[in-house]
Amino acid sequence: MTTQTVQFLRPSKSADSAKPSGIAQRWSVDEVEALFKLPFADLLYQAQQVHREHFDVNAVQLSTLLSIKSGGCTEDCGYCPQSAFNSAGVEDQEMLKLEAVVKAARAAQQKGAGRFCMGAAWREPSDADMASVVKMVEAVRDLGMETCATLGMLSEEHVEQLREAGLDYYNHNLDSAPDFYGEIITTRDYQDRLDTLERVRRAGINVCSGGIVGMGESLTQRAGLIAQLANLNPYPESVPINNLVKVEGTAMGNAADLDPLDFVRTIAVARITMPKARVRLSAGRQQMSDAVQALCFLAGANSMFYGERLLTTGNPDVERDRALLDKLGMYPLAEKM
Ligand code: SF4
Repeated sequence: MTTQTVQFLRPSKSADSAKPSGIAQRWSVDEVEALFKLPFADLLYQAQQVHREHFDVNAVQLSTLLSIKSGGCTEDCGYCPQSAFNSAGVEDQEMLKLEAVVKAARAAQQKGAGRFCMGAAWREPSDADMASVVKMVEAVRDLGMETCATLGMLSEEHVEQLREAGLDYYNHNLDSAPDFYGEIITTRDYQDRLDTLERVRRAGINVCSGGIVGMGESLTQRAGLIAQLANLNPYPESVPINNLVKVEGTAMGNAADLDPLDFVRTIAVARITMPKARVRLSAGRQQMSDAVQALCFLAGANSMFYGERLLTTGNPDVERDRALLDKLGMYPLAEKM
């Protein structure tokens, strides 16, 4: 019997050298792509080792997402049924009332969610919108839950209001690699996203940022997304990895399916390059078999969206998720004794 040496890939020696922008480039795109190309077993082995070094691998953090303002968004994100540019039929609705948000948060908490994320379909909030959101954040915090919001671009002033309200996390995804981004969104650029993330980071609010795979990007572009996230300084505390949900009426309604094993590889590469992040299984989980989800956990996922709906697309029901976690001997983070 021969013993095979497992190839381990690490950040380059230039890890600490600063790019002109002042951001330390920990991972080059080539290095991340090399991880993607490892034999599957070697990749998962390395991801498992990194995961076990930093986390209890059987605990999963559960976040429930609520759309507090749906539809009619003025951005043209090609994957999104809430964009006014798409014809997916999501109506432009008014913002939910505070009582409805608190009721939904309480219900999520009773079902085991530890974090409650409030999402609004805006390019950016107005001052009046912010006044309402601040009350929601304060009320959800009062329930003893972690709070997260995803409201689009933020000014310094709005970031400060959220900080004062005690917001724990702000979600703003990079979506894709810089060189693929223009294929999916034209109404705001990549730098706008980086600027919002920088403001959030400077205010001391935890950063939640990830992306979407399966939109027709190349492997190099998928690696480019992960490298971009991993090179944020510091990298995000939460990294949602979404598998495109193809919604009829959106520009990506007919995109080709991503091989599920390529999704698993993306999770593993995110785990290796961002060792201490919560890597979250996000959109697209409803279409995944239990076996693929189990592989994702093996690859280092340790967070997932929990609850029957995401913003406007479906999610596995709570019973199916609890049964899956039971089968795998896993438990929600908040319930660990
Ligand atoms: S992803 Fe967000 S910003 Fe883009 S269209 Fe949908 S709601 Fe608007």
